[in-house]
Amino acid sequence: MSDLAPGILRIPTRGDGDNCFVVTDEDGLTLVDAGWKSAPTVIRHAVETAGGRLADVRRIVITHAHPDHVRGLAELASRTGADVLVHEQDAPWLAAGRVPRHGRSGRLGRTIDRLPLLHWQPVTATGTLTDGERVGSLRVIHTPGHSPGHIALLHEPSGALLVGDAVFHRGALATGPDALAADPATRDASYARLPRDVTAVGFSHGTPLLGDEVGHFTTWLAATTDRAG
Ligand SMILES: [Zn+2]
Ligand SMILES: [Zn+2]
Repeated sequence: MSDLAPGILRIPTRGDGDNCFVVTDEDGLTLVDAGWKSAPTVIRHAVETAGGRLADVRRIVITHAHPDHVRGLAELASRTGADVLVHEQDAPWLAAGRVPRHGRSGRLGRTIDRLPLLHWQPVTATGTLTDGERVGSLRVIHTPGHSPGHIALLHEPSGALLVGDAVFHRGALATGPDALAADPATRDASYARLPRDVTAVGFSHGTPLLGDEVGHFTTWLAATTDRAG
């Protein structure tokens, strides 16, 4: 684990590539995403190493209802008693325990969603999120495409941006596979909604960009948005 920005801890929950984030807020901790089924143990250890307790988690914000972000959720929700918040358009997926058939644009996505490994214990969100809403110190930015209710989160105190699965950074910056996205055509419009003047970028998949490296992200975003033109 490492600091993404003051007040935000990045917790790699599987290898060094799949990340959850913990934000220190005035009333306790805000956890962003719940990872795979093994993630709760890793998250608990990281929070305790940082001097906190799992019981300090006040809310769990889900960037989108895909298995690698929510399979650990039922356990974390019950162990913390925290509120569970997700965009209103992904809330039905969260409650269904799997991505619905219309939730992937390609056959590959629909095929893998049949695997029990990609199903999760259904969770009813305690609240739903909409674009522009503030949750703790995070501003919600609705960025549909990867899923209908996908959100990015701007940490307003530090200016750090959490992009979820809107952008991947495994070696290079990339848009995720079309087949796994609900509606790939809407992703470019979502990129245009992301703020550019940020201090750090945290990815759900891949290594963060800090300081001057953020320029790689803004350049990539501009090129991608231009191409969509
Ligand atoms: Zn995803
Ligand atoms: Zn993901």
